Amino acid sequence: MIGRYSYINCPRRPEASGGAANATIERREVGVLKSFDYFRPSTVKEATEILADLGRRAKVMAGGTDLLVNMRAGELRPDYLVDLQGIGALGQLKHDTDGLKIGAAVTLRAMETDEAVRKQFGVLAHAAAVVGSVQIRNLGTIGGNICNASPSADMAPPLLVLNARARIAGAGGRRSLPLADFFVGPGRTALEEDEILIGLDVPAMPPRSGASYLRVSTRRAMDLAVVGVAALVVLEEGDSVCREARIALGSVAPTPIRAREAEKLLKGKTLGRGAIAEAAAAAVKAARPISDVRGTAEYRREMVEVLTRRALAAALKQAAEKEAR
Ligand SMILES: Cc1cc2nc3c(=O)[nH]c(=O)nc-3n(C[C@H](O)[C@H](O)[C@H](O)COP(=O)(O)OP(=O)(O)OC[C@H]3O[C@@H](n4cnc5c(N)ncnc54)[C@H](O)[C@@H]3O)c2cc1C
Repeated sequence: MIGRYSYINCPRRPEASGGAANATIERREVGVLKSFDYFRPSTVKEATEILADLGRRAKVMAGGTDLLVNMRAGELRPDYLVDLQGIGALGQLKHDTDGLKIGAAVTLRAMETDEAVRKQFGVLAHAAAVVGSVQIRNLGTIGGNICNASPSADMAPPLLVLNARARIAGAGGRRSLPLADFFVGPGRTALEEDEILIGLDVPAMPPRSGASYLRVSTRRAMDLAVVGVAALVVLEEGDSVCREARIALGSVAPTPIRAREAEKLLKGKTLGRGAIAEAAAAAVKAARPISDVRGTAEYRREMVEVLTRRALAAALKQAAEKEAR
């Protein structure tokens, strides 16, 4: 049995879900959309219980900027929509000395404009700022960007180099896993049917580090990345030697990926042009791009090389400036 949900209008028992007796829901006929039952839980527990009850015919909605487009196009035809916007806890953004705790329903606009994010995690603020338009960013959430699991999701490469972890809740409890393990395939995540992403935990930036995200797209705005590359560099104390480097690639494989062989090449080296060029060439080997309307595989490989070099150089510059302070 699941609890009583906050509701919008007409109480009705969902035919398909024997257990959702107390659920209060509304059946909508919306324009060209197929009709669906709408749930607006106010807690994570309610949301996961509804999902456990309704199974795969239910779909979670956050900002709806991806989901509703797909539903309007007829690509998705859920019987039930579970709207997460009524769960206040998912909209919270907290920062302390350990790092950032980002609720899954924090909007991209909030990521772009939050002072602490801009100051301490400029790479995340920058990545959020390149998504779509202000209107899209006002609605679109960081959780939606990640759970949509598009290979080109702009928030994915920066979160990957920051070693973010995904916080997940399901009817049976909570778990956390490295974001790198969250992406399973294009449009596919490690979430079970009754699970939602509740947040992303980002550890504090290491001392003497810098991070950068660069992307190319076919237009300057309102277009997805043809290639996106994030890099993070940590320097040894009092030295220009690289203690650790992380590189993540978007839009060039079935999921956003880390280029770990390329990263290894940089450890313990002074990051001059030669070392950076060597790592950029190794990053190209990690890429498995396809050709599509936005660009050929060959173009994407070239851009991985160019953007990896530039992202590493930008991250190194930031790290060196911090070291100098
Ligand atoms: C015009 C336009 C331009 C765009 N430009 C870009 C761009 O430049 N870069 C980019 O990366 N994206 C872009 N997008 C895609 C989209 O806006 C973003 O990915 C956005 O962050 C999605 O967030 P949302 O909250 O709207 O997700 P929704 O549409 O609500 O959901 C997306 C998917 O994630 C699932 N989901 C959402 N939240 C959760 C959760 N907490 N737990 C489990 N599942 C969840 C939903 O079920 C759905 O499958 C664009 C979209 C449009 C329409």
